[in-house]
Amino acid sequence: MDLTTYLATTLALFAIITLRYFAIAGFFYWALWKKPGNLLRARKLTSITPPRRLILSEIRWSVIASAIYAVPGAIVLEAWKNGGTAIYTNINEYGWLWYFASVPVYLFLQDTYFYWTHRAMHHPRLFGLIHKVHHESRQPTPWAGFSFHPTESVLEALILPALAFVIPIHVSAALFTLVLMTVVSVTNHSGFELLPDRLLRGFIGKNWISAAHHNLHHQTYSCNYGLYFRFWDRVMGTDRLESAYDFLGDAPVTTHQTQ
Ligand SMILES: [Zn+2]
Ligand SMILES: [Zn+2]
Repeated sequence: MDLTTYLATTLALFAIITLRYFAIAGFFYWALWKKPGNLLRARKLTSITPPRRLILSEIRWSVIASAIYAVPGAIVLEAWKNGGTAIYTNINEYGWLWYFASVPVYLFLQDTYFYWTHRAMHHPRLFGLIHKVHHESRQPTPWAGFSFHPTESVLEALILPALAFVIPIHVSAALFTLVLMTVVSVTNHSGFELLPDRLLRGFIGKNWISAAHHNLHHQTYSCNYGLYFRFWDRVMGTDRLESAYDFLGDAPVTTHQTQ
């Protein structure tokens, strides 16, 4: 691989990832925190107004994380140009069924990796060294989407590029997954629940992680470690949500918290 090309690709990716972060986080910050009319009909999860100092810190760590994400991202992109990855461009190669199935498969594998690395980082020996930075946002804002210590960013930056070498994914499905990941990271830290009540109480809310679920992780540290799905939290007895918010108070309780 030509080093100059690789460095140029890394820089271009850094710019794209940073712009994507500012566009998505900026939109949700403006729509949720700056528009008093509550444009998105979201429910506020907190009475705390995060200080400006915290927001600036979240942005700084997120920009550093974007630079870190660009490094393995550029390796994948350069390898793809040379036909060395599992990313493909012709849908017929694996068919429509796999085209749609590949996204949840990627999400589930990333979620599994995230759950276990996240739990490991809550070990007292690792927490102060790595994960404390993310939890400086006791009440996070949309800007906290990538607000990680560089070691955590490196750890979390590895999984999707690694999968791209082994599990076939169409280029558009890969792009969709990356944008979804950013939207989820931003909205789950936004301090507002975006899912309407009907969805939150139904199948989606019972299985998919939204802001109310992850906000509890930032408040309590001891539950809700997942990224996209409540599956691993349920299996491992670390899931908590329904009894935690008034607006979910009379929903059927599916709490499994053990800690
Ligand atoms: Zn978080
Ligand atoms: Zn955590």
